[in-house]
Amino acid sequence: MYCLSKHNRFIFYNHFIFQKNISLVQGKLIIFTAPSGSGKTTLVKHLLKQDLNLSFSVSATTREKRAKETDGKDYYFISYKAFLQKIENGDFLEYQEVYDGNYYGTLHKELERVWAMGKHIIFDIDVEGALNIKRAYGERVLTVFVRPPSVEVIEQRLRRRATESKKTLKQRLDKAVAELAYEPRFDVSVLNDDLDTAKADAYEIVSKFLVCEKVL
Ligand code: 5GP
Repeated sequence: MYCLSKHNRFIFYNHFIFQKNISLVQGKLIIFTAPSGSGKTTLVKHLLKQDLNLSFSVSATTREKRAKETDGKDYYFISYKAFLQKIENGDFLEYQEVYDGNYYGTLHKELERVWAMGKHIIFDIDVEGALNIKRAYGERVLTVFVRPPSVEVIEQRLRRRATESKKTLKQRLDKAVAELAYEPRFDVSVLNDDLDTAKADAYEIVSKFLVCEKVL
């Protein structure tokens, strides 16, 4: 059985039962994952503005803060030494060295913070992190893979964003190609060729999941 959608732009790999009006006793986890430049951050920001009772999972990272970012809102920007200490303390639900030398991770206490507010948590993380959280929280998790129309489009988007040096741009592109192969491992895919359509698809998928229970 499915949480039915007549929309043929996304594919459900797992099965759901659609049940309206169930009361939510546990917070759920919505994970958006994709190669860098696929537009997943834009989709996550869009969903956070909707009536979905979502709150963003702020990750810890060792990478440099960008001009428009705010510490504690976009990321917890911490030193490499502090990150290693948190690994040692067992503070992370998952972490990855996403790009050479830069670590990103989800803190257990971030989930507790969001659930204490009575909200569901939404993540913007890499493919390995997404699979690790799915393993840890199973049925409570929806993993959404954001598929770019092509690698060329990713490259254009990254160049337009102008946050990368020549070296890190190449790293991100190489990694993007490898990450595209992960798509079938996620619950559902959203094609991001037209942003408005992708936003509508993402809203429909997430709102249905939040009133659904999966079949075991
Ligand atoms: P950026 O440097 O562009 O903000 O992010 C680089 C990549 O790291 C993105 O794919 C982003 O989704 C991913 N990322 C951000 N936070 C986390 C996290 O906590 N864990 C993992 N595994 N990946 C993350």
